[in-house]
Amino acid sequence: MLSSQVFDYIVIGGGIAGSTFSNLMGRKGYKVLVIEKDEYPKHKVCGEYVSMESYNFMQDIGVPLDSFDLPRINQFQLTKPKGRAINLPLELGGFGISRYLMDSELKKASLNAGCQWVKDTVLSYCKEKNLYEVKTKKNIYLSKELIGAWGKRSLLDNNLERPFYSNKQSRLTNWVGIKYHVKSHVLKKDLISLHTFKNGYCGMSKIENDAFCICYLMRGENLRNRTIHQSEELFLFKNPFIKEVFTQSEFIYDQPLAISQISFQNKSKSEMQALMLGDAAGLIAPLCGNGMSMAMHSALLASQIKNKAHYPIQWKKEFNQRIKLGRFVQYIFGRTGVMSIFIQLAHLFPFIAKWMIRKSHGKPF
Ligand SMILES: Cc1cc2nc3c(=O)[nH]c(=O)nc-3n(C[C@H](O)[C@H](O)[C@H](O)COP(=O)(O)OP(=O)(O)OC[C@H]3O[C@@H](n4cnc5c(N)ncnc54)[C@H](O)[C@@H]3O)c2cc1C
Repeated sequence: MLSSQVFDYIVIGGGIAGSTFSNLMGRKGYKVLVIEKDEYPKHKVCGEYVSMESYNFMQDIGVPLDSFDLPRINQFQLTKPKGRAINLPLELGGFGISRYLMDSELKKASLNAGCQWVKDTVLSYCKEKNLYEVKTKKNIYLSKELIGAWGKRSLLDNNLERPFYSNKQSRLTNWVGIKYHVKSHVLKKDLISLHTFKNGYCGMSKIENDAFCICYLMRGENLRNRTIHQSEELFLFKNPFIKEVFTQSEFIYDQPLAISQISFQNKSKSEMQALMLGDAAGLIAPLCGNGMSMAMHSALLASQIKNKAHYPIQWKKEFNQRIKLGRFVQYIFGRTGVMSIFIQLAHLFPFIAKWMIRKSHGKPF
């Protein structure tokens, strides 16, 4: 059925980037529709550490972070696959918040800014004359402008024949993400720890309500002919820090949340004249801990842009260095031998690790 309304903006995907962009445009008085396929609140695979660069911005757009008593994280620990640790302060630091809370609060703030939300899945879009036609499972919607904020991987990437979707050969593709929430006396509330293991790394940090998030990323080959629990015993538990936490914590839900086919390859910043935000424009290695801040920041950039042709240039200026650093660090973390050498070097020359941490975090925006 063809909707009779013409929106100023349609935003495909109501995750971090889509809800932020809609909020900013709703506040400016535009008529905005967000099409999101899922219902909130909902758990998502994520490390749930947000760098401080976006704290004030979130409060400014109507997310009352101060009222949630969220943990502040200002210490960092990195461990070698066999367990040696390096500890460093985090200069800017971050805070912990579950995606269950974060996404639903961002949606609430977008609704408060006057945006409309519909639960539906976008199948395709095209531009006819001056209007975008957005086809969903249930409807066809019209808008003057279109924003792609559908995250790291969607059937739309396939429909648009985006190259990263079909390229399965690169070491930047085929990663698997797993997440748990636990209660633990072993973990510290102001610390984010990253523990490496063969073909992957595991992050641990505190979120709201006395819970901790454990989230790891590993190459898909670790799971070949194995269950998640078998691969944990075989690969993760070789690192004594990980084993201690897994064996001495209380798991809040029995089964982990999992996602696969994660790709860190380059992506275009616009598709058929629709600007891409957040992970739809490029995914930074999660160990850099600020994909969510980048998603919000890209929404802010797109909301301020006067000429759409300038967006890819602005995006690259703002994020390319971080994305490249993330890829490099991802490369190191995936290789046990290289990782050991890196941690040894970081012990001798801590400024190397400090420099990398500083570069992976942005500045408040
Ligand atoms: C394992 C892992 C751990 C991470 N840990 C961290 C971390 O600790 N800190 C951090 O800052 N970042 C982290 N990230 C990165 C962070 O999760 C992303 O950068 C962030 O979620 C990007 O937001 P987004 O809005 O682009 O995408 P999402 O938040 O994924 O939102 C996309 C939305 O689009 C919807 N959608 C998709 N297709 C359609 C469609 N066809 N129609 C309608 N809706 C659609 C989806 O349902 C989804 O809600 C991690 C990523 C991974 C993979």
